[in-house]
Amino acid sequence: MALNVLTPWLAPIIWDGTYDIDILDNQHNSTRIGLFVFAVKKYIRFLLPFLESAERYFMVGHNVTYYVFTDKVNEVVKPKMADGHILQLHDVVADQRWQDVSMRRMEILTVFTKEHMPNEIDYLVCADVDMVFNDHVGVEILGDLVATIHPAYFLSEKGAFTYERRPISTAYIPHGHGDFYYMAALYGGKVDEIYKLSMACQKGIVEDKKKNIEAVWQEESHLNRYLVYNKPTKVLSPEYLWDTILPNGELIKKKRFLAVHKNHKEVRN
Ligand code: UDP
Ligand code: MN
Repeated sequence: MALNVLTPWLAPIIWDGTYDIDILDNQHNSTRIGLFVFAVKKYIRFLLPFLESAERYFMVGHNVTYYVFTDKVNEVVKPKMADGHILQLHDVVADQRWQDVSMRRMEILTVFTKEHMPNEIDYLVCADVDMVFNDHVGVEILGDLVATIHPAYFLSEKGAFTYERRPISTAYIPHGHGDFYYMAALYGGKVDEIYKLSMACQKGIVEDKKKNIEAVWQEESHLNRYLVYNKPTKVLSPEYLWDTILPNGELIKKKRFLAVHKNHKEVRN
């Protein structure tokens, strides 16, 4: 099922060999693309390798703006960047809990997709920073609303998806609903689509907080809930999110965006 190249609502699932990059590159010769990333507290250590690998593999030859949010603007080391690439550094508060840092991204997205990005970019890609680009990631990933299949669940039955299952949470997805389990480490779309997505997720996060609950996988749970009822127009295969510790790697020909292994206790403390 998840090795298909079409979803049941006929959105393409992007695998190596399903597209001609020259045709797509031509269609996007004046497209402006943003890459949104948080590097807060100890995660600042992941930023330079992330950006350097992006310069090597992400949207090569296109107009790219990096939107970096950090509590350590002065410590950011800038990578050597191609012409037409812009690095924007923005201050962000450092929440104490790592879960709150991770969720804070939705709130910041609601502001930037409304106020700044509409004049600056056409598409936005949102990523975790504890990752490196390891092979081509180009305009084939652009679409109105794009999400990536979680690499640990691409062969799983729906019943095994770790959606939020408590009806009290706004991220609740009833059994039998949902199509894929998406990972929040890579998603994107047109700026106005990410505005709508982040508004919905942020609203859910705030409502849950009022009830003193937190969805099982924080903003990833809210993202999954949103995407059940607002189907992505394009789905990225696990080529676009991989972790070398996972099984079934032989099914994934190109590992384009790889998790960096981290000591969770150490970086989150
Ligand atoms: N993050 C951060 N500082 C923190 C915690 C999280 O900058 O102290 C950001 C960072 O971009 C990170 C993302 O939030 O990649 C998601 O957190 P994490 O990668 O720890 O989640 P995981 O991928 O392990 O589920
Ligand atoms: Mn991560």
